[in-house]
Amino acid sequence: MLELRNLSKSYAGRPVLAALSHVFKAGEFVAIMGESGVGKSTLLNLIAGLDVPDTGEVLVDGQAMSALDDNAATRLRRTRMGFIFQAFHVLPHLTLRQNVALPLLLNREATGRADSMLDAVGLHGRGADFPAQLSGGEMQRVAIARALVHRPALLLADEPTGNLDPDTAASVLALLRAEIKATGAGAIMVTHSTAAAAMADHVLLLTRSGLQLR
Ligand code: ADP
Ligand code: MG
Repeated sequence: MLELRNLSKSYAGRPVLAALSHVFKAGEFVAIMGESGVGKSTLLNLIAGLDVPDTGEVLVDGQAMSALDDNAATRLRRTRMGFIFQAFHVLPHLTLRQNVALPLLLNREATGRADSMLDAVGLHGRGADFPAQLSGGEMQRVAIARALVHRPALLLADEPTGNLDPDTAASVLALLRAEIKATGAGAIMVTHSTAAAAMADHVLLLTRSGLQLR
């Protein structure tokens, strides 16, 4: 589903990723671990098309991202990918329902599924609430609902439980796993936490020499 071919990326002449290649299979839940500063977020940003590699290619369903114009790349990202970040990025001036419906609106799809996604993440009846009243764990549940509402093939998550206490993190991850398995989405989750990584099907370690199965 996703292939990284010979990816390299430097910042100010300092190499972060060098000739990295990997194939991610459809529907797999993969955790990526590695030391701080090794390039995990850089790698996710390259996969998401939020940053461009110096060399190499990101291929989605065999399609090289670099061969797409901005509109086509944006469309591919909106329809095929979902995102969850450490800092939630739940929009404060929108209700929970509006937050979750956002990917559907951007894709010009009917927004009816937003409420059933809120139900699925344990926020039944909360659609008209605003994020200000939510705990961190509830905020991340909204982010999970939003990331999966449009049924992406691939979920990208950067330290999704980094701001949560261990118990809340465990319940959010159990929910995340259940939802990606229910929708058939693959997922790539960057995490520091071995407990979080243990929820994935496979754990990869990112080092200076690339990605290795742990
Ligand atoms: P990780 O997520 O594994 O902690 P990052 O991918 O955030 O690591 O960063 C890898 C390295 O690249 C770090 O040394 C960081 O300072 C550098 N870096 C990341 N993004 C940028 C950027 N936009 N400009 C300059 N340096 C960056
Ligand atoms: Mg990072």
